[in-house]
Amino acid sequence: MPNEPLVACEHLVKVYDSPTGRVQAVRGVDLDIHPGVTTAIVGPSGSGKSSLLRMIAAIDVPTAGLVTVAGENLIEMRAGHRAHRRGRLLTHVYQRPSDNLLGHLTAEQQLLRLAHPRRHADDRVRSTLDALGLGHRRRHVPDEMSGGEQQRLAFARAVVAGHRLVIADEPTAELDSASADTVLDTVDALAASGVTVLLATHDPRVLGRMEQVVTLRDGAIASITRRGTELAIIDRSGRLQLPPEVRARFPDRTALLRWDDDEDTLRVDPP
Ligand code: ADP
Repeated sequence: MPNEPLVACEHLVKVYDSPTGRVQAVRGVDLDIHPGVTTAIVGPSGSGKSSLLRMIAAIDVPTAGLVTVAGENLIEMRAGHRAHRRGRLLTHVYQRPSDNLLGHLTAEQQLLRLAHPRRHADDRVRSTLDALGLGHRRRHVPDEMSGGEQQRLAFARAVVAGHRLVIADEPTAELDSASADTVLDTVDALAASGVTVLLATHDPRVLGRMEQVVTLRDGAIASITRRGTELAIIDRSGRLQLPPEVRARFPDRTALLRWDDDEDTLRVDPP
């Protein structure tokens, strides 16, 4: 790989003990996310999307495995230090627009309080609001803004705070189609400025706009699609995971692997 991953998950596992028994929400996820690559995590309800995002954001502690953001293991830090480092590294965007902003602050004030570094903060806040089409909302509080505008402002926090990563859980779920599109324009603008966006979604409108789509099924990665091409997954032990429709061609679950030097391709045939 040409560059270090911004997010690295190594065999992440999350098990919840609930009154009705144990739930294996995430079952050994290996996932690298490289800087600037917009990624959607998809999968049916209950497939583990939120659990995975919460561990990456260091909101929840993995049952097993390791996650690093920019090389830092936030989970193992003391609580105060973790909150400080998280506040320097990442922005978390929740589904409900009002959960992301302080109700009594104007758009400008929401961003100013997070500005890092502080030098020229006013100018940076102003230019960020203008660049994201929120200039006219500078002096408005969230209640005076549409849901889409609030979500765009929630994403804008990352730019002003100098964050490298935005983690968003279903950020367009409560928006109409036109508003969702403007939020996705904001995601594109962030990606273009080098911010890495990782979001969970059910929203088919989002998928076509993300560079990478990771599909979870029962807490495990079922497939990764990069720029429209579905890729087979090789885990950290070197095991190759075949897509379900291909797997059916290998009923005894063995395969003959041959590297073809002329074609520069790996052939995987039934034995
Ligand atoms: P998704 O975001 O894909 O809907 P979740 O990560 O929310 O999936 O949930 C994965 C599984 O873990 C589900 O079966 C869910 O019921 C269970 N789960 C999630 N959070 C908890 C919790 N705090 N306690 C017990 N079970 C949970």
